[in-house]
Amino acid sequence: MNLHEYQGKELLSSFGVRIQRGIVAQNAQEAVAAAKKLTEETGTGWHVIKAQVHAGGRGKGGGVKLAKNLEQVEEIAGQIIGMDLVTPQTSAEGKRVHQVLVAEDVYYPGDSEPEEYYISVLLNRGTGKNMIMYSTEGGMDIETVAEETPHLIFHEEVDPAIGLIPFQARRIAFNLGLSGLAFKEMTKFVTSLYTAYVESDSSLFEINPVLKTSDSKIMAVDAKVSL
Ligand code: ADP
Ligand code: MG
Repeated sequence: MNLHEYQGKELLSSFGVRIQRGIVAQNAQEAVAAAKKLTEETGTGWHVIKAQVHAGGRGKGGGVKLAKNLEQVEEIAGQIIGMDLVTPQTSAEGKRVHQVLVAEDVYYPGDSEPEEYYISVLLNRGTGKNMIMYSTEGGMDIETVAEETPHLIFHEEVDPAIGLIPFQARRIAFNLGLSGLAFKEMTKFVTSLYTAYVESDSSLFEINPVLKTSDSKIMAVDAKVSL
């Protein structure tokens, strides 16, 4: 069973994984109310409106859009809800959008440039071990990365009987090129992500992108979760 992005993020958050926060809306009015609430809770000025359908590549298909004020929230939510969203992962007819996630803007400017990574957790059927697959090339289609720059994809095998050991979490943060606060945040992120995977009995987590914010927080901006 595949969860919607917002459900996947709720699951992750319940295990202490930092997520881009958001509120689900079924129509444009609810989207505006959600945006106001989110601004109160997080201080976000801008909002990202994200179609909730079971398909990736929503950004490319026009299903993820940035709103810079409440008028734009209403307009964009109105456009996306009810549309048949066509992405590289849907049929030509697309998928009807019934709800959107109104999410905080986490690409705000700051001390460093935001960076996107790819992290998934899955079972390696060959070895019977869990595997964390990760890459510096986040935000892109991972199949394309695998084809064009396979050396930028890393694997960490985890023995289910032992669990993820701190050394492995540090190696992931290191291979992603992180240091300082971002390094610490990443070890925390992958550790809680792995715990969430095991405890929720999931078959797949795919977090693309994992974001390093301009103030070095690490969080899930997207979430594909299969139970
Ligand atoms: P999908 O994978 O279905 O296309 P994502 O949630 O991964 O959907 O979003 C697609 C892209 O939209 C992300 O890779 C990211 O670059 C961009 N994006 C998401 N949230 C924001 C935001 N707050 N500000 C700017 N860009 C964003
Ligand atoms: Mg994505």
